[in-house]
Amino acid sequence: MSDLFYKPKNIYETASDELVSKFYSYAESYREFLNSAKTERECAESAVKLAKSKGFWEYVPGEKINPGDKIFSVNHGKAVTLAVIGKRSLRDGVNIVAAHIDAPRLDLKGSPLYEDGEMAFLKTHYYGGVKKYQWHAIPLEIRGVVITSDGNAVNVSIGSDKSDPQFVITDILPHLGADQQKKVLADAFPGEGLNILIGSKPDSSDSEEKEKVKLGVLKLLNEKYGIKEEDFLSAELEIVPAFEVRDIGLDRSMLGGYGHDDRVCSYAALTALTDLEDTPDKTAVALLVDKEEIGSEGVTGMQSRAFERFLGSLTRAQGISLDDCLSESFCVSADVCNAFDPNFPEVSDKRNNARLNYGVSFMKYTGSRGKSGSNDANAETIGKLRRIFAANDVAWQMGELGKVDQGGGGTVAMYMARRNIETIDAGVPVLSMHAPFELISKADLYMTYKAMLALYEN
Ligand code: MN
Ligand code: MN
Repeated sequence: MSDLFYKPKNIYETASDELVSKFYSYAESYREFLNSAKTERECAESAVKLAKSKGFWEYVPGEKINPGDKIFSVNHGKAVTLAVIGKRSLRDGVNIVAAHIDAPRLDLKGSPLYEDGEMAFLKTHYYGGVKKYQWHAIPLEIRGVVITSDGNAVNVSIGSDKSDPQFVITDILPHLGADQQKKVLADAFPGEGLNILIGSKPDSSDSEEKEKVKLGVLKLLNEKYGIKEEDFLSAELEIVPAFEVRDIGLDRSMLGGYGHDDRVCSYAALTALTDLEDTPDKTAVALLVDKEEIGSEGVTGMQSRAFERFLGSLTRAQGISLDDCLSESFCVSADVCNAFDPNFPEVSDKRNNARLNYGVSFMKYTGSRGKSGSNDANAETIGKLRRIFAANDVAWQMGELGKVDQGGGGTVAMYMARRNIETIDAGVPVLSMHAPFELISKADLYMTYKAMLALYEN
């Protein structure tokens, strides 16, 4: 056992050149994943594609399983469960990493399109916790799916290709911002003001229609995608930032991009599982779920019985009870945490906050106002993970979600714990979490991958 990383310290103090080059090369593969997958559906597709390329196949409940089998299951196109069947019986429990692939964004409303001031706009309802002012005056893309009246699914992705147009939400010019500047942020940027500018050119036909700009937009949507106005009713169109993932800092030690929360832990879990070389002792499971940002509700969220369906069919295949398997299982709820930000030190307790470049961060508890709504892991659970990380040279630290009574939040941890699975939160520290452009450290990213690999191999 090496104690090299046992006490929290900046990873770069002790990391060899060889290790640093691993941080940077792993970040390149993550960059590709994050650039291509900006919605939960796209993440699920990318995960399946990667798993298939590594020899995983789609599991049909009821099928026999054998040690070494590499399987996956997709839940309604927006959540993926993957597993490598271990040598030991499922009666001894499984090792789970649970991460989420949804991210804060703006969703189009059911009747979104309108014209005002001879410009066409789309109305939105934000998804997850966003600071609304951050979504004004930045380039945006539209991605998602539309189910047309004849039942066809039309995939939409506008804005990522260099030749594509992009979209924007306007803001008041500072010259005329006197009233706006006096308001508190929550009032200055109302939710009903998050309207996407989608066109300004009136249709040139001599139609009777009064709203010619809206007509022009509808004609283009119909030409390009075969969509009619009422098809918005059965659509899931997500407005996401048009930023590419970029190196940040002269030393290129950080990655800036949209959706690190929580695609960074999702990618680490996915690659750790698919990189397993030997059949693990215990069955290794990666959960990539949807809807975490809105409370893990919904058919594709962590509260869905899809998890029981998958794991239950595995335990049935071995003739044992699901509850017996769950009670012996171990789960890392892999979600990002807040990194200490010297620009805003007042929201954190510096002694207990995660820091950039100190490795994967445990969170014993999340929640708010006296840990309310928190999993609050057992000391034994943290002790177990400490030993695994120390034995595998994983740089780790302990974090917490800000100063006491400053605010708070939750993860999927409590929904795993509810199933009687020993659960602990651990993930990558993030700066500007939930902003359209979030920031992580490449060293922390790699250490999170290594942490998950160590858990699965243990
Ligand atoms: Mn998260
Ligand atoms: Mn989040």
